Amino acid sequence: MTAPAPDRFDTLPRFATALKAIESLKPTEPLYLVFPDKFALAAQTFLKGFDGDVLYAAKSNPHPVALKNLWAAGIRHFDTASLGEIEAVKSVLPDAICHFMAPVRLAGQAKAAFEKYGVTDFVVDSDAELDKLLAETGKSKTVRVFVRLVASLGGALLEMSSKYGCRPEEAAKLLKRVRISGCQPCLTFHVGSQCLSPFSYAQAIEIAQQTVRLSGVEIMALDIGGGFPAAYSGEPPPPYHWFFDMIKTALDNFGAPGLKVMCEPGRALCAPGISLVAQVVLRRGDRLYMNDGIYGSFDEQRFASFDEDYPPTAIALDAKGKAKAMTGAKRPFRVFGPTCDSADKLPRPLMLPDSIGNGDYILFDAMGAYTVSSRSAFNGYYPDGWAVVG
Ligand SMILES: *Cc1c(COP(=O)(O)O)cnc(C)c1O
Repeated sequence: MTAPAPDRFDTLPRFATALKAIESLKPTEPLYLVFPDKFALAAQTFLKGFDGDVLYAAKSNPHPVALKNLWAAGIRHFDTASLGEIEAVKSVLPDAICHFMAPVRLAGQAKAAFEKYGVTDFVVDSDAELDKLLAETGKSKTVRVFVRLVASLGGALLEMSSKYGCRPEEAAKLLKRVRISGCQPCLTFHVGSQCLSPFSYAQAIEIAQQTVRLSGVEIMALDIGGGFPAAYSGEPPPPYHWFFDMIKTALDNFGAPGLKVMCEPGRALCAPGISLVAQVVLRRGDRLYMNDGIYGSFDEQRFASFDEDYPPTAIALDAKGKAKAMTGAKRPFRVFGPTCDSADKLPRPLMLPDSIGNGDYILFDAMGAYTVSSRSAFNGYYPDGWAVVG
């Protein structure tokens, strides 16, 4: 097997702890701390707990650091949603198996994925996309066409069914068309991101089962999507084995022994492995101006409905230059990002020690998902400092 391509992220400075990284680098720009052990643990949880192929949803973090850590931990399959993402994954991991799991593709992208990268898994949720896919891949028998069902079941903090998916009746018609085409009929859904309800997966599997009955078509694979929650602060999510047990029971009831199953976790695989060190640039009363904000690593905070709570730890350098977690009474602070846009503000106050001030640091854990992948260089700020811990 070909080794991952070397890049500058292979030679990052390495520290025993986050505190050591801070006291030695004294970063004035945002710093991502990579924890290989946490990536490995997340990957192993899914590879051991889920009885099927585990696809890493690359959009949650397609950075080479995330890809290589998950590859090292045994992840071989990748849910890629565009030709650009396939190229990004393949350039770092030449042996990665890519699956094109977006139901609406730009013209020509399925053809390029199929012919150039050997991709055979695609998603559709409409007749027009199925027409386009069949034309671009020549109705090859090797192609598996996953019809995407809506699954708005209410268990997730970020729903995804208002944009993609079709109802069982329409999905049944698409399945019949796929069978007639000679490609392999399959089903998929996405219960929504940061899904706290294991039961949502069981419900969606049940809907898939009804769809199969309606269509009279035997499916070749079922992809149960992503959505598995990451542990942010506040209420811990239900343990993963609840999800895996519930999914197994639902699949046993599906009545298709030997059916190939897949899942596509993004957030759950990459969130825990990266922490972020931000610096307080200026304190004014109860306002903190940080060197990172919603145009950088906190982009996902724009979605007001998404109430994840990053667990911040305030850290100060003492007179001898030692980094220490700050103790003492906490109070709420309004936290602003570095850009001149007044929208660059965290939607909710952060509880931090009353004594925090200019130059102190704030450590945010579980910052690997939808942070690095959606940061921008707006206003000249682009978080891109990296170090490894462990
Ligand atoms: C975004 C996405 C995922 C990953 O979702 P998470 O909530 O991060 O697990 C998986 N599959 C598809 C089709 C997606 O669009």
